[in-house]
Parts: sequence; structure tokens; C-alpha cells
Amino acid sequence: MSRPDSAAVAAHADARFDATVARLADYLTIPAISSDPAHAADVARLADKIAADLGALGFSNARVLQLPDALPTVAAERLNAGPDRPTLLIYGHLDLQPVKGEPWSTEPHVATIKGDRLYARGAADDMGGWVSHLAALESWLEVAGELPLNVKLIIEGEEEIGSPNLERYMDAFPEAFAADVMVLTDCENPSTEIPGLTVSLRGLAEFELTVEAIAADAHSGLWGNVVPDVSTTLVKLVNRLLDDDTRFGHLRQEVPEDWRQAAYDVPLTPEVIRKGARLLDGVEPLPARGRPPAEWLWRQPAVTILSTTLPTPDRQKNALRAKASMTLSIRLAPGQTHAQMQAFLEETLLADVPGHARVTLKARPGSASSWLYTPRGPAFEAADRAYTKAWGRPLLQIGVGGSIPFVALFGRRYGDLPLILNGVMDPETGAHGPDESLHLGAFRKAIAANVFLYEELAALPR
Ligand SMILES: [Zn+2]
Repeated sequence: MSRPDSAAVAAHADARFDATVARLADYLTIPAISSDPAHAADVARLADKIAADLGALGFSNARVLQLPDALPTVAAERLNAGPDRPTLLIYGHLDLQPVKGEPWSTEPHVATIKGDRLYARGAADDMGGWVSHLAALESWLEVAGELPLNVKLIIEGEEEIGSPNLERYMDAFPEAFAADVMVLTDCENPSTEIPGLTVSLRGLAEFELTVEAIAADAHSGLWGNVVPDVSTTLVKLVNRLLDDDTRFGHLRQEVPEDWRQAAYDVPLTPEVIRKGARLLDGVEPLPARGRPPAEWLWRQPAVTILSTTLPTPDRQKNALRAKASMTLSIRLAPGQTHAQMQAFLEETLLADVPGHARVTLKARPGSASSWLYTPRGPAFEAADRAYTKAWGRPLLQIGVGGSIPFVALFGRRYGDLPLILNGVMDPETGAHGPDESLHLGAFRKAIAANVFLYEELAALPR
């Protein structure tokens, strides 16, 4: 085989961009919604289709992995580059979030191009993510006849329900996952001009806070001011957690000053925040207090009240209530653990309660670990070179304010390997909401970056 020229491969990928978009559009017509059992057959149908396409493309062993009581995962590999070349695992997911009840302005399961964006559920999360690799791999095979390194693909069918069986798949099919370097492609770029490398996630912990004081509801005119009111006690307790800006006011994390300065490069301007979060006219982002918005979003804990049992207007009456609860959702800063947070909440919320009202704090299921990763070594230098060729600048290290269970899992199982987390989402993507979209310019650059990335990684020592 003559020496492959990655510039020619990238040019070819660019020339066949419309065919790639058509393939993506085709996948997006199948409503592979993993959270809805009524769509389990669609998840299976899409998995079969992708496996067949990968086989036709020249991947060996393209197959649908199926464990009992789980949705399928697609696996495929092409290991023709030989034992001297590293093996790259590419992870993506094929399943979608539901669209029920969302006010879409286009058909959610019909890819619709408007301006420079393609609209459809899953366009960027995550069909566009892994299809950007499919397009790059296809171009290598068409131009050079072979891939510059060994490649394995894992396309999961249950990411949007929290990857409940991914570890079972890792245990049952270890050879499908074994690799020297991994690209996990389900993350965001800070803008359509700046490619992002995700290096941290916040974790999630939920608690039920309950206050009880009297055996039954009692007339507020007869007993108010004399015995504890569980509703106001609950409000007073949760206030202990907040600073004057209404942020979670405790357990602030140290961040290195150089990280903080670099975080000012993240284009989270007031305008981007205003648009992204759909702020009402006259409403401002919370004061910065000497920290960039990216730090508040990615590196510091946060609290939200998910629900309360405080009476709704239709259940209003002039009474002290017997019992009141609220569900608190806490985003754990990278490095923070559930146990640390629980100990802090117990110390803060259970002591010195007015009138000794009974307060209980119960952890709820559904927690997720935080994750903090230090990218170092030649794989990341290789990635920076590839991205500089395609995007004109290296990857900017970013975080995710939410939790992605599969990332924490890969981190736990394969954290010794270089884990390159990126993707094709941007701040206007609107993943999981109405009018989800993919920026076609960013998609095009993502494909080119993948073309160059394979060549750069191929040169690494095994
Ligand atoms: Zn996703």
C-alpha cells in the first residue's frame, strides 16, 4: 500500500460530506428511544442497520451484542493495521431521548436543514457524534484502502437511560472493549469555533429533607407563633445551604489559578448564557464573584429543589401542617463524594432546629459519581495536532456540569488509558429538548479532525 496522505483523505471526506449527512439523516428517522419500552424494537432495528452498514463498509465482526434484559450494543472492528500499531476504541450511542410533549418546530424524527444547522432528535446527541467517525473511517478506506491504526467501535443502545448495562457488556465482551486509547464521543464543544476536550464531570446526589412537628394539621391562628411550623422550618433549613446569591454556599472547591485563567477563554459570555438558558428580559446571570462562569458550572457544587410537599393553591387552608418535605438535588463538584456531601448536610440541617422539630435527611437512589481527569501524554499532544489541522486551534479543556454515567464508568474501568472525550454538540444544540440541532460546520470540522486524529494516534508507540 502506498503511503496514505491524510490531507487527501480529509479532502475526500469533505467532498462526500452530503452523502455523510444523508446517512446521518437516514439513521435519525428511526425513533430509537431507549426510555420507552414501546420503542425497544426501534432500538433493535437501528442497531441491526448500523451493524449491517459497518459490515458493508469493511469492518470485520460487525455485530449486535445482546445481553438478556438489556437493549443491544453494536460492536465492530478492523484490526488490519497490525500488532505494531495501536488500537483505538471509538464509543458512541445510538439511542435517543423521548420527544413527547415537546414543542418542536420541525418533525423530530425527520432531519431538517435550516441555515447552517440540521434539526432532529439525536442529530448531535449522539448520532452526529459517532457518524463523524464513520465518515472519517469510510474516507480512509476509500482513499487509502486501509486504516492507519486498528479500530474498534462500540455503539451503545442505552446511554440515554444512564447506561445501566454497559458494565455488564464490558464484563461479557471484554475483547470488544480492549484498546490502547479511547475516544468517547458524546460531549460538547464550547462553541462552533473552539473544539472541546471534556476532562471533568460533576456528580449527582439527591436527598429527601423532611420536617415533622405536630401529630395532625392545626389551626394557625390558635397555634402559630407558639409551636414550630414545618413549612417555614423547611424553608429556614434549606436557606442554611445558600449564599446571598442563592448558590450552594459551602464546600467550595479549590481550582488551580492557571485553570481559572484558562476558563475565562470559554465563551460563556452573558449573551451566550442569556440565549442558552432562555433568560427572560431584565433577568441577569448570577454575579461572577471573581470566578468565571465555567468554574461555577463545572467545578463548584450546586443545589436545586426538585420538588416539595408544600401545599398547592387548591389544597390551601389556614393551618400549620403536620409534615413537609423537599427533594434536594446536589451537583457534586469534581472530586467531591456523595459521602462527604451527606455528612455535610447532616451536620448543617439536623442540628439546632427551632422547637426541636424532627428533621430527617434520606439519600435517594440515582446518584452519580463526579469525575476529574488529567490528560497527559503523547495521545493528547497527538489530538491537539489533529484538531489544530482541522479547527485551526487545539482542544480547549472543558467540563460538564451534569453527570454522564458512562464516562465515570470508562474512567473507573479504563482510566489508565488515554480517554479523549469530545463530540459535536455546541451551546445551541439543545440536546434532550425541542429543536435539538447539529451545526453542520462543526460537524464538517469534526470529521476532518477524526481523519487527522487516526493518523496522529497511529504514530504513537504501543
Ligand atoms: Zn448522549
